[in-house]
Amino acid sequence: MKQEQAIRQLTKLAEEWGCGVKPQEPMKHHVTMRVGGPADLLLEVPTEQALRQVLLFCRAEEVPYYVVGKGSNLLVSDDGVKGVVLLLTGDLRKIRREDNDVICGAGASLASVCSFAREHGLSGLEFAWGIPGSAGGAAYMNAGAYKGEMHDVLTAVRYMTPDGQIGEYHGEELQLSYRHSVFTDTQNVILSLRLSLHPGDPAQIGARMDHLMKLRCEKQPYDLPSSGSTFKRPEGYFAAALIEQCGLKGLRVGGAQVSPKHSGFVVNDENGTCEDVLGVIRLVQEKVKEKTGVQLECEVRLLGR
Ligand SMILES: Cc1cc2nc3c(=O)[nH]c(=O)nc-3n(C[C@H](O)[C@H](O)[C@H](O)COP(=O)(O)OP(=O)(O)OC[C@H]3O[C@@H](n4cnc5c(N)ncnc54)[C@H](O)[C@@H]3O)c2cc1C
Repeated sequence: MKQEQAIRQLTKLAEEWGCGVKPQEPMKHHVTMRVGGPADLLLEVPTEQALRQVLLFCRAEEVPYYVVGKGSNLLVSDDGVKGVVLLLTGDLRKIRREDNDVICGAGASLASVCSFAREHGLSGLEFAWGIPGSAGGAAYMNAGAYKGEMHDVLTAVRYMTPDGQIGEYHGEELQLSYRHSVFTDTQNVILSLRLSLHPGDPAQIGARMDHLMKLRCEKQPYDLPSSGSTFKRPEGYFAAALIEQCGLKGLRVGGAQVSPKHSGFVVNDENGTCEDVLGVIRLVQEKVKEKTGVQLECEVRLLGR
């Protein structure tokens, strides 16, 4: 009850602080898998100042909060999210250039950052074209593809702690490794990224981006709701190959299935629920363990009650 009151109070205050306010917002509109029940409250936070006020309120009133980027590596439970979901908008999506560096707000889409770099003749980020996340989510996950990863270009990140303090990590402090960063499982909110690139010809940069997108569309079920690669790459193996080898391609639970196009993806092709997706994930983990002895670990993160 106390928390319900606090959330009602936050709904009013956040509007005064300039946030977009959406009570009982269905989370399936905010994750690429298109599953998930309502968040008690979703706030679109446009500035660092507004973010600080929200975080301080949440700390004082013990209201849990979660930052969601583009929701492209997230499953949200069918029962929804208790607490507040924060989306970074406005100033927190701005992109600018400083010499050969691109500085972008964490809420910016990776697509817009890649396009900005291409337009400015800055090379190094082409690998990220087609990863449907935000800059913040890419830093958090150390996203990577086609022999590139954020680690190659990300040189500094500004963040806000739950008590509203601003900090900055540089270089090795970011602890970037396979789908991991210093932010993994912390409550810090990533504010902006510094990407150090190098001059290149915009036409060549664009051609490389087009080529990688073509490869993606040929190999991945890019047209269906999914969360990308469901499982992390187990050491010495490829998750998709193991899944295929175990005869699990096309395995279905309700509206979700192992993609017939790429076994590393679970797709929600028939209006499935989060439970359907989790059902596919559990079955795959069980069968692969039974037949090959390899324990597949989820890359996709789960949020919710
Ligand atoms: C079709 C498809 C293809 C994909 N291909 C790739 C690929 O090639 N390579 C790859 O690495 N990934 C890929 N992914 C997965 C996903 O796009 C990446 O992991 C991406 O970096 C996630 O970013 P996001 O903004 O969507 O993060 P979300 O899914 O919204 O969040 C992921 C995690 O980051 C945290 N987070 C997000 N923003 C912030 C912030 N500002 N501050 C603090 N924490 C934050 C969230 O709390 C959550 O824990 C793919 C996904 C899809 C659907």
